[in-house]
Amino acid sequence: MIRNDVHPHISRRVLTRPEHRLSRKGISPNAIKVLYRLHRAGYLAYLVGGGVRDLLLGRNPKDFDIGTNASPEEVRRLFKNSRIIGRRFRLVHVFFRGEVVEVSTFRASPEPPEGPDDWEEGELEEREADAPDEPGPKAVREDNTYGSPEEDAWRRDLTINALFYDISDFSIVDWVGGLEDLERGVIRTVGQPEVRFEEDPVRMMRALEYAVRLGFELEPETDAAIHSCHALIAEAVPARLTYELMEGLRSGYAAGIWEKWDQYGLLGEAFKELDLDRDRILPMLQCVDARVRGGARVADATTIAALFLPGFSELLDEMTSNGQRLANAEFLDRLRAMLEPATTHMMVSNQTFHQMYHGLFALTKMRRPPERGRQVLKLTRHESFAVAWDLFEIGIEVGWLSGDAQDAWRRAVDQVWKTPGGEVPEIVIDPVKRTRRRRRRPRRRGTAS
Ligand code: ATP
Ligand code: MG
Repeated sequence: MIRNDVHPHISRRVLTRPEHRLSRKGISPNAIKVLYRLHRAGYLAYLVGGGVRDLLLGRNPKDFDIGTNASPEEVRRLFKNSRIIGRRFRLVHVFFRGEVVEVSTFRASPEPPEGPDDWEEGELEEREADAPDEPGPKAVREDNTYGSPEEDAWRRDLTINALFYDISDFSIVDWVGGLEDLERGVIRTVGQPEVRFEEDPVRMMRALEYAVRLGFELEPETDAAIHSCHALIAEAVPARLTYELMEGLRSGYAAGIWEKWDQYGLLGEAFKELDLDRDRILPMLQCVDARVRGGARVADATTIAALFLPGFSELLDEMTSNGQRLANAEFLDRLRAMLEPATTHMMVSNQTFHQMYHGLFALTKMRRPPERGRQVLKLTRHESFAVAWDLFEIGIEVGWLSGDAQDAWRRAVDQVWKTPGGEVPEIVIDPVKRTRRRRRRPRRRGTAS
C-alpha cells in the first residue's frame, strides 16, 4: 500500500460545510439524487474526482462521479435505470435524460483502470458478454478489488483528483494533500510519481493535460518523473492512449496540451504515425480550440482529420500541379494510405475513419465554386458533410486550403440548410459562374461556323 509509509507527513484533512465553497447547487440534480438514494439506503456516498476539483475551483464540472461502498450489484438494484459495465473493475452507469452518472465502488487497487468507459459500441458489448452477471466467489473479489474510501483516494492519479465530498455531512475529506495542491495550483501525483507512472503511463498524459487546463504548475518531482519515464508511454494500451488524446483535444486547450505532450516526448513515443511538426499542427488545434470555447461541437473526426490537413493539402498540390485534373481514384488510394497507419494504431472507429476520409475528399470538390445545384445537394447530403465543412473552414483559416470558393459555397450551402427538410431546393448558383458560361457560348459558336 502506498499511503503514509511513503508520505508520513500527510494526514487526513476535513473541511466542514462552512469551511469550503462547494455547494450542492453546483452538483447536477441527477447526481444529487444518486448520492441521496445511496445514503438513505445506508451506504457511504461521496462525490469524487473531477467534480469536486472543479466545484472547489468555481468551475463547471464535465460530469459527476460518485464513490460508494455499495457493490455494483447493490447499486444496480437501487437504480432501475442503470447498467453494470467493465469486467475487472465494474462500474455502474445510472442513466438519466441527457446525463450518465457513474457510480464506482471504492477500490483498493492502485492499478490502472481497465479502460475508458466509453469503448467503441461493439467493444463495450463484447466486454459485457464476457462479464459474468454475478461476481465470482464474492469474498475473493472484494478482498482483491474493493476497499475503503481512503484506499480509493490513494489509488487515484493526482492529488487534486482525489478529493471526496461526503453527502452525509457536506464535508470535504482529503487524505492525500489535494486541498493544499488545489489552493497552490500544483499538479502532483498521489504517491511516488515514478511508481504511479510505471503502474499506468497514461497518468503522464493526464498530469500534463490538467496542468494546461487548470493553468497549474507541475510539482518538481512529478515533472522530473515525466521526463525520466516518458518512454514508458509506448507500452500503454492504444485504446487508452487514444482516449486520453481525445480528452485533451476536445478540452478547448488542445494546442497547449499537445505542445506539452510533445515537449515531454510523449507524442513521439505514443503517436509516431501522426504528423508531429508543431508548426503545422498547433495552428490547426488553435482553430479547434476557438470553436470548442465558443461552444461549438467539434466532431472527433474533424479534429483527427485536421491533423492530416497539411499532408492532405500537399498531396492535392502534388497531384494537381501544372493544372492537371485530379485523378480521383488514385487520390483516394493515396489519401487512405496516408490516414491508415495512424488511425489503425489509434483504433479509430470505422465510422470516424469514414467521416475523415470522405470529409477530406469532399474538400477536393470545394476548391472551385459549385457548378450545379445537384452537386451541392449531393455533397451536403453526404453523411460526412458536417466534417467536410468544418475542415474547409479550418483549412482556409490556417492557410492550408484556398478560400477562393468559400463565399460561393457558403451561399449555396445556406440555401440547402434553409430549405425545410426533405424538399429539394432550387439552388441559385453563384452568378460569377453563370456570366462566365454566357460569355463562353458565343465564342464556341464562332469557332464552329
Ligand atoms: P474531467 O472529466 O474533467 O476530465 P476527471 O478528473 O473527472 O476530469 P476522469 O477521466 O473523468 O477525470 O476520471 C475520473 C477520476 O478517476 C479522476 O478524477 C481520478 O481520480 C480517477 N482516474 C482517472 N484516470 C485515472 C488513472 N489513470 N489512474 C488513477 N486514477 C484515475
Ligand atoms: Mg470526469
